[in-house]
Amino acid sequence: MRVTQLPLLPSASPPVPPSALAVLDERLRGTKFVQLAARSVLNSPQQTGVDFWSLNPYVGCEFGCTYCYARYAHRYVVERAHDAGRLSDAEFREFRGPHGWEAFERRIFVKEGLPGALERDLQRYFRSSGTSGVAAAPIVIGTATDPYQPGERRFRATRQVLERLARCEGLNIGIITKSPLVARDIDVLQRIADKSDLQVHVSLTTVDAAIIRRLEARSPMPAARLRALRKLTAAGVNAGLIVAPVLPGITDDVPHLEALFQAAREAGARFVHAGPLRLYPAVRDRFLPVLDAHFPQLSERYRRAYARASGAPRPYAAALSRRVRRLQRRFGFPENEGMRDRYANHLPPAQGALGL
Ligand code: SF4
Repeated sequence: MRVTQLPLLPSASPPVPPSALAVLDERLRGTKFVQLAARSVLNSPQQTGVDFWSLNPYVGCEFGCTYCYARYAHRYVVERAHDAGRLSDAEFREFRGPHGWEAFERRIFVKEGLPGALERDLQRYFRSSGTSGVAAAPIVIGTATDPYQPGERRFRATRQVLERLARCEGLNIGIITKSPLVARDIDVLQRIADKSDLQVHVSLTTVDAAIIRRLEARSPMPAARLRALRKLTAAGVNAGLIVAPVLPGITDDVPHLEALFQAAREAGARFVHAGPLRLYPAVRDRFLPVLDAHFPQLSERYRRAYARASGAPRPYAAALSRRVRRLQRRFGFPENEGMRDRYANHLPPAQGALGL
């Protein structure tokens, strides 16, 4: 996605009204939820350059994972709103944060008008992939921001989307989330699964709560995510763990991964998928200082390993893949690369491999 550059000179456009973006809610913890009119919510493969359709009801995510690659999308929305005169210069600074990444976690855009937009998008979707005999192109919810982040409790945007998808037949739907709130929607997930292929990926990088707290500012604790996974699988929902990113030197050792696989099995997971860290330029500013603070012994190795590319070094990725497959075999899970296999070439920006 191209990021709009800021104008070098002050805009000659008319003065911006004090609050052109409607604030839907404000929380004591400092988060503001802002309305974002959405004419379209389903991104086609042509729009994103990946092989599946994607849908994200929110822009920004309160969970605030330091390794999250979606911050650029928030920045893009903020810059567009400013360029269009819907954010004053002062609001623009507030919606970016001092370093350009903070507001992603504290200024959450809630897409408004989802039902109408989705209705139009589904017509487009069925026109493009409705050829008889051809399997429906996957629709993945939560590729850029968590669809069950705290705001969903109030706004129920993800629920609205699922209710609509439950009326369709023959879809191939994936959902990615770190939040136990997904268990709230078991009823609608069951209805979707009656008519379509559904896979719920509960995202968890480690069962070590201390590591989680250093790297994911406000995400749910591992035990809460595993309880949600247990509820989903007990209700017959096709759900498993996605372990991404695996962090070199932090969570990639056998004991860490074994503990995850064991926890997944106890929660009734149908699959466990894993993939290494991708360190995009927009992620570095947020992630590397945290690495320096909490894992200083790894700082130099990460900088060297990711110096030339966002993906982890190829030998590392290959070694990690072998390790994951061995664990999949040992714990009785299907042996594959996970989402990459299921959605064929389509995971967002290509991954590399780890070899620190
Ligand atoms: S939960 Fe997902 S979208 Fe939210 S900050 Fe973490 S990685 Fe990003």
